[in-house]
Amino acid sequence: MIDAHCHIAGPEFADDLDAVVERARDAGLAHAFVILAADDEPELAQARRVAERWPDVRFSIGVHPHAAGKFADDPASAAREADSKIADQPLTRGLGEIGLDYYYDHAPRDVQQQVFREQIRLARRRRLPIVIHTRDAEADTFRILAEESASEVGGVFHCFTGDRDMARRALAIGFHISLAGIVTFPRALELREVARIVPLDRLLIETDSPFLAPVPHRGKRNEPAHVVRVAEAIARLRDTTVETIGQAAQENFVRLFNP
Ligand SMILES: [Zn+2]
Ligand SMILES: [Zn+2]
Repeated sequence: MIDAHCHIAGPEFADDLDAVVERARDAGLAHAFVILAADDEPELAQARRVAERWPDVRFSIGVHPHAAGKFADDPASAAREADSKIADQPLTRGLGEIGLDYYYDHAPRDVQQQVFREQIRLARRRRLPIVIHTRDAEADTFRILAEESASEVGGVFHCFTGDRDMARRALAIGFHISLAGIVTFPRALELREVARIVPLDRLLIETDSPFLAPVPHRGKRNEPAHVVRVAEAIARLRDTTVETIGQAAQENFVRLFNP
């Protein structure tokens, strides 16, 4: 089992990190992919503590679209910031999360796009797969991925919330699809259809902790151990076992990110 996307170096886990890690291991997690914000020094410092407690974690570092506005004067500086933080953390295996968020629009869209582009270029230079965050921005996301030849490094659409057409588009350009706890929500009907059609060798599972706790933990802080609930929901939808889903996700993670 794998949690392919969590934020356990954030302040929400500072007080009980040991217990969170112990529960994750007890749940059978071999790895967790911990996402770090390149512009968040406390989180980057805490990441070293996480790696001491759990040597099998790996990191992905990037400038989130929400933070793109900090780099409005010089979008290329976002990539330089990510580059230097990646150089400082030897357990880094991915670049992200990066992308576009037109739902919250925390940064101007043209700035988000430039910061996204610059980081895809960095990913290609460093030969790192990317972790994509995209919300209400499907057309621009695919356009930029194509224009910047992102398929050269590949990666994952994290916390996928699109429909089946969007899933097919992501798969067609060689990307993986990662499903989070939303797939356990009874009203997420289209996402549950997506869960049925993603090929087993392109599927990842994640918690996005501390966000998006799955049923029956909805509304509380999420944590990596709960990824088992995501695997269970997908297994039910595909009429297979939780072990099959967990093992496939684990193998896909290893193939994609070389942990
Ligand atoms: Zn995200
Ligand atoms: Zn995230």
